[in-house]
Amino acid sequence: MKYILFSLFVLLSVFSLFSCQDDDDTTCTESTWYEDADGDGLGNPAVSQLDCDQPTGYVANDSDSDDTGGDATDPTDSGSANSVDPSLFLTDGTDFTVTLVDCTLSDGTTTKCYEIVTNGMPTDHNMGPWCPDNIADGADAGGIWLEGGEVYDVDGAFIENMATFYNDDKWLMYDANGDIYTTETQDDCANAANPDVGVAYENFCVECLPSYLGDLTSTYTIPMTPVLADSPTQFGGGGRGGSNGPSNRGIAFNGVVFDAPAPTDAILGAYTLAPFDDAGGHINLNAGYHYHAATGVSTEIEQSDGHAPMIGYAMDGYGLYAQLDADGNEPTDLDECRGHTDEIRGYHYHADKPGSNNFINCLAGAYAN
Ligand SMILES: [Zn+2]
Ligand SMILES: [Zn+2]
Repeated sequence: MKYILFSLFVLLSVFSLFSCQDDDDTTCTESTWYEDADGDGLGNPAVSQLDCDQPTGYVANDSDSDDTGGDATDPTDSGSANSVDPSLFLTDGTDFTVTLVDCTLSDGTTTKCYEIVTNGMPTDHNMGPWCPDNIADGADAGGIWLEGGEVYDVDGAFIENMATFYNDDKWLMYDANGDIYTTETQDDCANAANPDVGVAYENFCVECLPSYLGDLTSTYTIPMTPVLADSPTQFGGGGRGGSNGPSNRGIAFNGVVFDAPAPTDAILGAYTLAPFDDAGGHINLNAGYHYHAATGVSTEIEQSDGHAPMIGYAMDGYGLYAQLDADGNEPTDLDECRGHTDEIRGYHYHADKPGSNNFINCLAGAYAN
């Protein structure tokens, strides 16, 4: 098999050599080239391009397990401080890919970006559960809810006590047997998520299942090397000054997006509850599975100096880290975006506390247009 692959490769190389020498020939044969960011002659299997000619910085080899010129888990290695390390993403080459593309950033910088295409299904943890079945159910049967900066287990008792919790007698989300009214179908999920649907879905626990999503994919583009902007960009979409900036905050290593705050006022205003699972995620039919809280369930890259673990990248390519360090402390010098700089990691962000329904407040770096 190895010999066949090698022969195929030689054949392809020879073929593309000939076909590309002739500029009039538009039928050149593309082959796959892998990024060799650290220049060791070994390519990164996670980052590839199709091209007739060998692109600069790319090789045919795809066997480099660490293409950063260093180890991203080793904070004493400055080689990985600032550029995005695509090998940290849990890509599978099919449902989750990372590809280097040309891009222009919001400040006009022409550069390279990583285009992340994913079905948004985490491979490092289960999704759900969200809604418990009965008010006698324990915390294992449900997810969480975020209120007033706190994380609450959505167990049977939480549902039973909602009228008291929200000081509003209109909350009654269960029948005489204690069974909780929960969305049962994709139509239910679509209707209950619409705040204009009216009374039909009042007092429903909204639970949209992965099976409703089909082959939905999402594409995100982040700068390969972050560029600090002159001034921070407020997030766009859903308030915050109507900025043109992205509304997504960042991407977890499993390809799940760190989303804008959940519109909990609208959800509660329609007398529905759309819990998050213990990972801080839930599903809507347009966005797929997405996070509203960093609860420490998705893949984390531990930092050997006791700094908070890394949980992904913000949309400007800067690293996104958990809220708390190994001693349980939040940094005290965070800027308005929730970022700060240290010698090991350069500029980076720390996610807001899980109960805040928030990750970061703005983007300090330029984002891909
Ligand atoms: Zn949501
Ligand atoms: Zn930090």
